[in-house]
Amino acid sequence: MKSYFKSLLLLSILFIVLGLKSIDPIKKSDQVDQKVKDLLAKMTLEEKVGQMTQVTLQAVSKVKGTKDQKHQLDEAKLEEAIKKYHVGSILNVYDVAYSLDYWHEMINKMQNIATKETRLGIPLIYGIDAIHGTTYTLGGTLFPQAISMAATWNTELAKKEGEITAYETRASGIPWNFYPVMDIGRQPLWPRLWETYGEDVYLASQLGASYIKGAQGDDIGAPDKIATCLKHYVGYSFPINGKDRTPAWISERMLREYFLPTFEAGILAGAPTIMVNSSEVDGIPGHANYHLLTEILRNELNFKGLVVSDWEDIIRLHTRDKMAESPKEAVRIAVMAGVDMSMVPYDFSFYNYLLELVKEGTVPMWRIDEAVSRILRVKMQLGLFENPYPNKELSKKFACKDFSEANLEASRESIILAKNRDKILPISKTAKVLVTGPTANLLSVMNGGWTITWQGNEETLYPQEKNTVLEAIQNKIGKENVKYVEGTGFDKNINTDEAIAEARNSDVVLLCLGEPTYCETPGNIVDLNLDKAQIDLADKIIETGKPIVLIMLEGRPRLINSIEPNIDGIILGFLPGMEGGNALADVLFGDYNPNAKLPITYPKHPNGITLYDYKPIEKFDGNDYHPQWSFGYGLSYTTFEYSNLKISSQEITENEELTGKIDVKNTGNRAGKEVVQLYLTDMYGSVTRPNKQLKGFQKISLNPGETKTVLFKLNKDHFSFIGQDNKRIVEPGNFVVTIGNQTVNFSLK
Ligand code: BGC
Repeated sequence: MKSYFKSLLLLSILFIVLGLKSIDPIKKSDQVDQKVKDLLAKMTLEEKVGQMTQVTLQAVSKVKGTKDQKHQLDEAKLEEAIKKYHVGSILNVYDVAYSLDYWHEMINKMQNIATKETRLGIPLIYGIDAIHGTTYTLGGTLFPQAISMAATWNTELAKKEGEITAYETRASGIPWNFYPVMDIGRQPLWPRLWETYGEDVYLASQLGASYIKGAQGDDIGAPDKIATCLKHYVGYSFPINGKDRTPAWISERMLREYFLPTFEAGILAGAPTIMVNSSEVDGIPGHANYHLLTEILRNELNFKGLVVSDWEDIIRLHTRDKMAESPKEAVRIAVMAGVDMSMVPYDFSFYNYLLELVKEGTVPMWRIDEAVSRILRVKMQLGLFENPYPNKELSKKFACKDFSEANLEASRESIILAKNRDKILPISKTAKVLVTGPTANLLSVMNGGWTITWQGNEETLYPQEKNTVLEAIQNKIGKENVKYVEGTGFDKNINTDEAIAEARNSDVVLLCLGEPTYCETPGNIVDLNLDKAQIDLADKIIETGKPIVLIMLEGRPRLINSIEPNIDGIILGFLPGMEGGNALADVLFGDYNPNAKLPITYPKHPNGITLYDYKPIEKFDGNDYHPQWSFGYGLSYTTFEYSNLKISSQEITENEELTGKIDVKNTGNRAGKEVVQLYLTDMYGSVTRPNKQLKGFQKISLNPGETKTVLFKLNKDHFSFIGQDNKRIVEPGNFVVTIGNQTVNFSLK
């Protein structure tokens, strides 16, 4: 049997289903440890507490940046921050994206003071949210947001995004990126859903780990690499009411089953920093949670890097959470829970309180030394002690053609074809089309938050040479074939009647709906239904009887159940990034064959939020699973057939590996890519088992008529789950493997 499988190897592609290989994030070379020790021994208490302090650029600025006015550093404040308060880190922007040269000027100024005008010359570490590319440097390559990257199911693209983002961020002189978001996206109302890699632990772990490997390579000290930051540890993404920064209630079993594994994957992939959950789990704010920040993160997950707070969240233990009776007590709680650096971010209160706490003996010196060692180690790993300055050489490839081509590829692979009645798509290039709707002619709606500004909504600051959906369609089929009527804004009618009139004169209507940009708390909503004005426009267009293709650009799945039955073609674009317009036009008119798959369950009803890995009880006694579209779903312009699912044995023991294979054939008449998805069902368990769980996937390309054999391997990691005692266990019993329409059973002895 074994040799039979071996002979297939040459013809086949291996599933990447084995565990992620561990690369130690912090090079634990004695040399670095010794250097940290030596430096620590020379530092005063004030210098140490300063290293643990992070302030925002705004705290050291005179004038905020706008479209018409250049941002200005306040040199006196900067000197005060670095020389008097010894701050170890600065973050963010104030308030718009800057040019490469301007970043260089600022970082040079800061590092000059830090390294040349202080006693020990410790460089600063600058941190930023380069969440889908280098957000805050003008011209940066802005990829699809995470939800769309997840829709590609392509780990190579996630790695590439990591590489390019690292290059361009480091080219700006910034070595630390507050990304990737390893929160799992299982609450569709949450306004940060689009920052996640979706609802599935396995998919999100694979993509996040690949991004980290791309961004960091084997050495974050290389000139074009950066330190990543896993966020927001842990449980932040599951607010009960769906609103950002509101409570989650997550049992320890659920936490270990769904929320911790992605962070574990990020740690194993080498992320040297982690940011804390800004909200609370089970009544304990993230920043006060010793169990999560120390017992689990340090003692179980063996994380050696630095833990940074989220924005203002230490003081909020007092001002918001009413857990600490004073701001000083808030600092004590957070530091003793395990936070190493405070994103204060506007003042030096953290510094002052912590200094007092150490002097009083309420925070022990060992805890300060531990936190500062972790901070210094990351700075050393990044090579900042050797060279803290921006590297001008890197400007050469910044935003180069290769990078935008990689971005276009990612964008194309992220576009999900959800419906194609009577093959309305691809549309003929000679058709007369009406383009209408609020997302048709804006770049911001394809990029989302953290694009040039925090909310990403300053459309006039966007690179005007990039194409909106409308512009890309005009380029593709000629302006003379395209009519554009806005029709409606996001939530109010503009000129719906005009759109209806034009619809009657068109062959096809391209209806572009969705959401405006947002991020974090400003993106909170109380209703997952798409806005009424947009549904009204859709209803009126439907009345014309014209063929309609709906294009959704959105950060979370806004419900379209009421209009879906009357729409012929549906494309889910989510947030496909700066090349999204071109990518969508390529898919619409058949220059690209779509291959993306949903990384989340797209719900049909506001109270029907059941995810794909539901429990048996969720489909029992009248309960049912009726999403609009399920996780893993997505169509192509070609068709695929699965056959010959085989496994190495019907019976294995816990320590044996199960190998298997399946044939996938392109049965249509155009080349295409298919995501081969392996699901496992554990038939009985001492804790109720999900209906099915993704345990492997492989994206393959097939020419018309071509067949490929895909190999897979499963081991006890895949069979395991969190048992009644909250520990990971493997239980004997029967399992079913499902790939496409094929299933096969085996039992574990
Ligand atoms: C967000 C983080 C972000 C930080 C710094 C916070 O409000 O929650 O994700 O990294 O701001 O910008």
